[in-house]
Amino acid sequence: MKKERLLEMVKILEKEYEKWDAPAKRFESAYRRTPYTIMISVILSFRTKDEVTLEAGKRLFAIAETPEDMVTLKREMIEKCIYPVGFYRKKAATILEVSQYIVENYGGEVPSTEEELLKIRGIGPKAANIILESAFGHKTVAVDTHLHRILNLWECIDTSSPKESFRVLKEGLTPDEQAGLNKLLVSFGQTICKPSRADCGSCPVESLCPATRLRSTSNIPTL
Ligand code: SF4
Repeated sequence: MKKERLLEMVKILEKEYEKWDAPAKRFESAYRRTPYTIMISVILSFRTKDEVTLEAGKRLFAIAETPEDMVTLKREMIEKCIYPVGFYRKKAATILEVSQYIVENYGGEVPSTEEELLKIRGIGPKAANIILESAFGHKTVAVDTHLHRILNLWECIDTSSPKESFRVLKEGLTPDEQAGLNKLLVSFGQTICKPSRADCGSCPVESLCPATRLRSTSNIPTL
């Protein structure tokens, strides 16, 4: 991993973060943020745009924002609330199952360790690390497609999957260096370095980005 370059580019972007109007940032004011609503939002967000996830979360948490309330709902009602998130039928079933599990095994409180989170069916390493960071303030990094794509584009890592990127970043970065990386690069990927069309002309790290060698934005590979 080219850690020095990564940290230098991250430092520059951190100064720009407040300016970006990224969908991911709107979650913070959309509904009450608790470990439980954060966990359910993560489930809703799989293969779904942030804008759609956000509205689905608002509708769902308006009628149930605790696992105890959620398990009283019929699956069809949850489906109706969260439609049109991707796989909404399966997600409604997962939400019920996860909520039931938390009520039965953790007294309605979302567990705060990776080991316990991974015991919950439907929660994988990416989801667990988002929950640990967003809900409990742990210094960790969750790797989604934005992080994986951008860090490869920067040639800071050379990996073929988000899973591999996660391993490389966990091994190569200190907890302090991991903290906030997901939030920063997801917002950057939603506003400037978009997968469909990178806005290199407005990019604060353009001079350091190896992808600018390609210059024509349409030639920038999407990973
Ligand atoms: S210069 Fe372009 S490709 Fe490189 S990080 Fe910025 S927006 Fe992305």
